[in-house]
Amino acid sequence: DTARVAFVGLGNMGAPMIGHLVRAGWDVRGFDLSPAACEAARAGGVDVASSLAEALDGAGTLVTMLPAGRHVLAVFEEAASLLPAGALHLDCSTIDIASARLLHERAAACDLLSVDAPVSGGTGGAAAATLTFMLGGTEAAVSQAMPLLERMGRRIVPCGAGGSGQAAKICNNMLLGISMIGVCEAFVLAEKLGLSHQALFDVASTSSGQCWSLSTYCPVPGPVPTSPANNDYRPGFASALMTKDLTLAQEAARDAGAETPLGRAALDLYAALVEAGEGGRDFSAMVEFLRARSAP
Ligand code: NAD
Repeated sequence: DTARVAFVGLGNMGAPMIGHLVRAGWDVRGFDLSPAACEAARAGGVDVASSLAEALDGAGTLVTMLPAGRHVLAVFEEAASLLPAGALHLDCSTIDIASARLLHERAAACDLLSVDAPVSGGTGGAAAATLTFMLGGTEAAVSQAMPLLERMGRRIVPCGAGGSGQAAKICNNMLLGISMIGVCEAFVLAEKLGLSHQALFDVASTSSGQCWSLSTYCPVPGPVPTSPANNDYRPGFASALMTKDLTLAQEAARDAGAETPLGRAALDLYAALVEAGEGGRDFSAMVEFLRARSAP
């Protein structure tokens, strides 16, 4: 019965995501190594198994929402022999390109379907089922994944062959990290030049400096009232997660031989921000970091 789903990884993202499947009436069983995560999911009405094998019993789909490639590979290897031929592995985690490609190869070798489907939208998007999914995999695999994805997200973007979802995610987030630093630098320079935040915003948001990091997610309080800057930089999108994604982008750039000097510089700056103890704050707090490093 391919309708039965094993969902592994009930953390900040996985817990709200599995909740949508449960409420939609899916036959889904969760599993996590953390007793606290299992307990919280049970309290939320999720059927939680006491082992991965138990979660997989009778399942035709394995969903993973785990920290990194090594966790997904470990779960996949344990699960592969327990899944029937033609079953689907849907990995929603953000992982390195090399592991993502290996997962697709291993799935094909085990006669399983495979989709990499990293998300953007964060915990808020997971809770509201408004995530964007970026997909890599064959058409057959993607169409098998679609009913699940439609329950957990709003925008579903097929990006190409296996690994393309992860590629889209890290290219986008590398661009986002770079553009946010650019916007923060412009505000810090404006402050030194006696130009008001609002004046810079009014000019740049309607001219060639316009970008999402400025117009939607403005890193100084005032011009865009809904941005995390107005809420003491509570995430939002934590700098630690931006650092993870910029690291994955640099690994991929190195392996693929792409020249990405600004991606490297963005990683160095976000790593320094995390090092300074700011990893839990929103990534737009970069403006405070640059201000603090500027001459008094
Ligand atoms: P999390 O740390 O809150 O949850 C991960 C869970 O996986 C934990 O509960 C952990 O116990 C469990 N786990 C680890 N290894 C396991 C194993 N072998 N078997 C079973 N369970 C295992 O992380 P999260 O915030 O939910 O993020 C999950 C993924 O989503 C990451 O790849 C992250 O980069 C990505 N992501 C997160 C966000 C966000 O805002 N949190 C946004 C987009 C993407």
